[in-house]
Amino acid sequence: MTIADTIQTLFLELHQHPELSNHEFETTKRIREYLQKAGIRILELGAKTGVIAEVGSGSPVVALRADIDALPIEEQAACSYRSQNSQVMHACGHDVHTSILMGAAYLLKAQEQEQNLPGTVRFLFQPAEENFSGALELIEVGALDGVDVVLGLHNNPNLTVNQMTSCAGPFSANVDRIEITITGVGAHAAKPETGVDPIVIGAQIVTAIQTIVSRTLAGLEPAVVSITKFLSGNTWNVIPETVEMEGTVRTLTPEVRAKVKAQLTNIVENIASAMGGKGELRWFDGPPSVINVPEWVDLAKTVAQQVGYEVVDIEPQLGGEDFAHYLHHVPGAFLNIGSQSEYALHHPKFQINRDMIMPAANYWYELAQQVLTVLKNNQS
Ligand SMILES: [Zn+2]
Ligand SMILES: [Zn+2]
Repeated sequence: MTIADTIQTLFLELHQHPELSNHEFETTKRIREYLQKAGIRILELGAKTGVIAEVGSGSPVVALRADIDALPIEEQAACSYRSQNSQVMHACGHDVHTSILMGAAYLLKAQEQEQNLPGTVRFLFQPAEENFSGALELIEVGALDGVDVVLGLHNNPNLTVNQMTSCAGPFSANVDRIEITITGVGAHAAKPETGVDPIVIGAQIVTAIQTIVSRTLAGLEPAVVSITKFLSGNTWNVIPETVEMEGTVRTLTPEVRAKVKAQLTNIVENIASAMGGKGELRWFDGPPSVINVPEWVDLAKTVAQQVGYEVVDIEPQLGGEDFAHYLHHVPGAFLNIGSQSEYALHHPKFQINRDMIMPAANYWYELAQQVLTVLKNNQS
């Protein structure tokens, strides 16, 4: 079987047997089997799910990462290879990322046998991207030890299969979650003067939050603050004691992230206290923004052109990507390749164009070698 056929088969198997974050046990087994079939060495670092493997030897080391988990979605795509696991679907295309990385591993293994590799290529088949825990877990077990450059890719349904994109600097958002509690004093609805109404305070706070982006950030600094939950009260004639809110903050840079956090705290605490209540903000840091290193973005774009991709420009996205954690430790780049789906990522009808798989594997193979060559030249 050719490498192209092998990774198409792997893709179909993965798509039909998706598994949720941190539960990718069968997926892990399957990846190991495919690696072992090609004689690719697996590093036993002790991750619960996911696989780390290598070809080549010595320094420098470039790591290529694919995420392997799926989402709790009932698939509605009109394809013959639909998910066989109820309420679980590869709706973000991590099955295609895994297949692409496997293809690159097979191609690079042949180079290793020819003794043509100027260093080591490490493959990170990472679990649990969707809940943002997998990259941290792999870093924890030592997946980045000795790594000089790390590269990752995500499919992009809005691009055609021959298009690639990336950009230097921020490429995805800091994805933070917030909870707000407003505490007032409950009262009879007919006697509001005897209590402190947390709903009225909460409404003022939600309105004031809308001014964070429009009044405290510069016009060209992208950010989003969304309140997505507002719970209070349980009947018509009682002023309740508390309001509970939840939401998310998306920013691109550490500076804007800090500014939004400070202003949000101000608004919640001070508006509540001005109105006689108490406001508390709880902030949960999600994955930081992916910050691409210009040198590696440039090389990724050059190699993309060499292997036949059209390189297009896109704006940074306000979605999250836990690849950012790797870039806190090691320089590198994250990029997109077109998957040409009619439906968006995380949609129950999301379906990639399978023509993207082999060219992307070939691109990854080519890019990994060129990164090693640059690193090797820098060493000497
Ligand atoms: Zn996703
Ligand atoms: Zn994804």
